[in-house]
Amino acid sequence: MPIAPATIRLDEIVPPKTGWSQILATGEQLKIVDLEGEQAVDFLAYAAEDPAERYNAADTMKIAGSIFLTTGSRLYSDKGRPLLTIIEDTVGFHDTIGGCCSRESNIARYGKPGEANCRDNFLGQLKGHGLGKRDIVANINFFMAVPVLPDGAMAIADSRSKPGDYVLLRAETDVLVVLSNCPQMFNPAAGYKPTPIRCVIYSTNEKKEAVR
Ligand SMILES: [Zn+2]
Repeated sequence: MPIAPATIRLDEIVPPKTGWSQILATGEQLKIVDLEGEQAVDFLAYAAEDPAERYNAADTMKIAGSIFLTTGSRLYSDKGRPLLTIIEDTVGFHDTIGGCCSRESNIARYGKPGEANCRDNFLGQLKGHGLGKRDIVANINFFMAVPVLPDGAMAIADSRSKPGDYVLLRAETDVLVVLSNCPQMFNPAAGYKPTPIRCVIYSTNEKKEAVR
């Protein structure tokens, strides 16, 4: 299928350790660029019309038959609807199971609260859309490596994301996207040195029917 001409609607740098959110119209594309490499981006998505419908990690994994996300992966809602599709990916796999860091989990795991965390970043962004604690679900971690061994052992490993690596997502319906540029300093999620990312929204010049 030919790629429709696109115009840039938004092009923003998201500073290290901060949150960001936007509503994408159906057919719009979001590019998330890991500018300096090794930077986890925690990510949630909600149907814009009714945010009670949101990204569902388990169904996304089951339908794909994989715990990793890459080009072609669809991010399903809890109503079995694709909210977004990954249409380009320069890394090869992204995490679905590691979840987000929080003050509480930093204390439980490392005995320290940390100075910032993804859960608080999520809450800060969700508040602006009338959402809150009850709306945080298991999230995606773009650019984060969480390998799982045959015996079930898993861990946050060194990121394979290089400077300039990116994912390009297409909105399959009107969708609220919320992300946290991970502030984690106690494990390799952000390479022990949180760095900025870039978010670019492309408006395609053709109407796209929602995927059923
Ligand atoms: Zn984090």
